[in-house]
Amino acid sequence: MNIVAPRVKTLPAGLAEALRAIVGPKGWSDDPATLDPYLKDWTGYYHGTTPLMVMPASTAEVAAVVAACARAGAAIVPQGGNTGLTGAGLPQGEVLVSLRRMNRVRALDPLDYTITVEAGCVLAAVQQAADAADRFFPLSLGAEGSCQIGGNLSTNAGGISVLRYGNTRELVLGLEVVLPDGQVWDGLRRLRKDNTGYALKHLFVGAEGTLGVITAATLRLFPKPRELATGFAALRDLDASVELLAILRGASGDAVSSFELIPRLGLEIGLEHDSAVVDPLAAPSPWYALIEFSGTVADASTRPKLESGLAAALEQGVITDATIAESLDQRLRLWRIREAMVEFQYKAGASIKHDVSVPVSRVPEFIRTANAAVAAAVPGIRPLAFGHVGDGNVHYNLTQPVGMPRAAYLERAADVHRAVYDVCAALDGSFSAEHGVGRLKPYLVKEWRGGAELDTMRRIKAALDPLGIMNPGKVLP
Ligand SMILES: Cc1cc2nc3c(=O)[nH]c(=O)nc-3n(C[C@H](O)[C@H](O)[C@H](O)COP(=O)(O)OP(=O)(O)OC[C@H]3O[C@@H](n4cnc5c(N)ncnc54)[C@H](O)[C@@H]3O)c2cc1C
Repeated sequence: MNIVAPRVKTLPAGLAEALRAIVGPKGWSDDPATLDPYLKDWTGYYHGTTPLMVMPASTAEVAAVVAACARAGAAIVPQGGNTGLTGAGLPQGEVLVSLRRMNRVRALDPLDYTITVEAGCVLAAVQQAADAADRFFPLSLGAEGSCQIGGNLSTNAGGISVLRYGNTRELVLGLEVVLPDGQVWDGLRRLRKDNTGYALKHLFVGAEGTLGVITAATLRLFPKPRELATGFAALRDLDASVELLAILRGASGDAVSSFELIPRLGLEIGLEHDSAVVDPLAAPSPWYALIEFSGTVADASTRPKLESGLAAALEQGVITDATIAESLDQRLRLWRIREAMVEFQYKAGASIKHDVSVPVSRVPEFIRTANAAVAAAVPGIRPLAFGHVGDGNVHYNLTQPVGMPRAAYLERAADVHRAVYDVCAALDGSFSAEHGVGRLKPYLVKEWRGGAELDTMRRIKAALDPLGIMNPGKVLP
């Protein structure tokens, strides 16, 4: 089946009136100034356009909106917090469906260790609701103050706790979804075991809004960490990153909850642009690891585990120096190094970015080989490779050479991407570890996931969304 997305710049007659009637006066806007923040993304690379944004306040309203659009053959783009990094949540003429008014916590069951929330709940609010009930929701990422659970599910977000708790996919028990014909699938089950046919919820996780609108989710909660120990270590070299991770996992009874690789350039970006960043170690090192251990029992055992793990690594020559946070303030300062690097990297110049993954053991090989490949393509290019190395996820961002004009550098983006993705493919990696495909990378889906895999994806899309109205032009080539 040929799925042709209807792109509407003006809506079919009567549709705008019908949608406005469904959502009421507070639930829509076509005012350019109001729409502006929803039509550009965090990176500044993507811009969108829409004839109308609707903000339904209930599942029934979402269902009525989708049904009306389906009847009129008008396409829809669901949007959460608009923090996505691939342009997936920006419309290109479609009706924009913002979930932000659907932000209620519907239920929290401390005995089941579950929380049921509407899709428009901001991630930080879900963390806080769990915390207030003496429980823990582990999904955590830099955008947690703005991104929404519906967006997290639709991108299968990763973040800094994947090593211990898994991606968003591992955190979801049940979903409520409005399907492309307006039907509501109520799959909000709280079951840990449920082998009753195809696991439909997993179709919608990571689908980037191309198969339906997620309206609510039941999520797994965990015992709250009672102790945290945060350390910062200077690595002997790049290979030492995975050696250190292996030592710490073995020495701690798997208490490692985060393990982030940080290059010297990343620390220097923070030192230059953020007064909260200090260099925690005496001598500079080309590579660092930011490590966090967590323990759910307050028995003062977590810090000693980190201490003894780092001592063993020092003795074996895997690290050359390390420090452990003595207070909450020091812990936040160590994490600030990681956050400032991401926030201020743009100040070092134009950046060509990649969000790749390889098997954990091959992270050093990936970075080394890719560094050589991109230096051959653009001499003087400055790699800023960092990320959740415990998950094999490298944010491989490449800053423009000093002295090279920005535009001339960005013109080389295709060559740089090719060099990086070739190395990644040779190491059995993925071209998108956690940010998704969106508008940016459908061509790579064709190259990397062609044949039976792409054919199956297309059949699923055609079966669920025969009119092609759900977030057209995203994910599938
Ligand atoms: C500073 C910063 C740090 C980040 N760190 C990380 C990180 O560590 N790990 C990580 O994985 N990502 C990270 N991201 C990327 C981003 O935050 C995640 O992709 C996040 O999950 C997107 O959520 P959102 O609500 O903003 O979704 P949006 O950007 O609004 O949408 C993303 C996609 O989901 C779809 N969508 C949104 N809501 C729904 C819904 N209810 N139903 C169906 N489809 C929907 C949209 O159509 C779009 O395709 C970061 C971003 C920033 C800006």
